[in-house]
Amino acid sequence: MKMPAPQKLLALLAAVGLFAGCQTSRPLVATAQNAASQAATTPAEALARLKAGNERFAANHLLTRDLAAQRVATAGGQYPFAVVLSCLDSRTSAELIFDQGIGDVFNARVAGNILNDDILGSMEFACKAAGAKLIAVVGHSKCGAVKGACGSVELGHLTGLLQRIQPAVAAVPPGADPTSTTRVDAVARENVKLAMRQIRERSPILAELIRGGKVGLVGGLHDLESGRVAFFE
Ligand SMILES: [Zn+2]
Repeated sequence: MKMPAPQKLLALLAAVGLFAGCQTSRPLVATAQNAASQAATTPAEALARLKAGNERFAANHLLTRDLAAQRVATAGGQYPFAVVLSCLDSRTSAELIFDQGIGDVFNARVAGNILNDDILGSMEFACKAAGAKLIAVVGHSKCGAVKGACGSVELGHLTGLLQRIQPAVAAVPPGADPTSTTRVDAVARENVKLAMRQIRERSPILAELIRGGKVGLVGGLHDLESGRVAFFE
């Protein structure tokens, strides 16, 4: 039986209303980090926020954010609680995998999440000048850059970048297949630990903040399939 037009419209409105109701049942985050909330955050709390955000991402229960309100609130200044170094990989954006909004985290991204002087300078800015409480170095499974380093790939400027991963490659026995997924993931973990060591060794500014407990330093491995990040100290 054909539905009369007004009834059709009512049915449509009800469906839209129901859909909107579902959406607003999720917590709405309109506020953004400010100076007070950043100052009140400890390194342990900053890590807990990343872990909780990653749980939401993995479960596909993302917060509903008012990005326009966050944009306006942060236009005059930013007070992120963490700085994340992660891979260039299109599946590893920190804001997505940790379910964060505008002004929440600094995110440095480069193939293979390697550390260099420019990234170190960016971290020093994030922590010493801009007050971030946590440095998280986050690698991921099936990393193309790490695989390239395992296979000694050479290509233009990428050659020099992959060289920085070689100490991590050397730390994992090659086995029968040097570029097997198991080995690449093991090297990715070593590569995160390498960057963590380099942060302490090469930046007196960050080392002092970490020693004094003002800033935390953690590593993490992001599993592309589950979306979960396994953290380690
Ligand atoms: Zn990668």
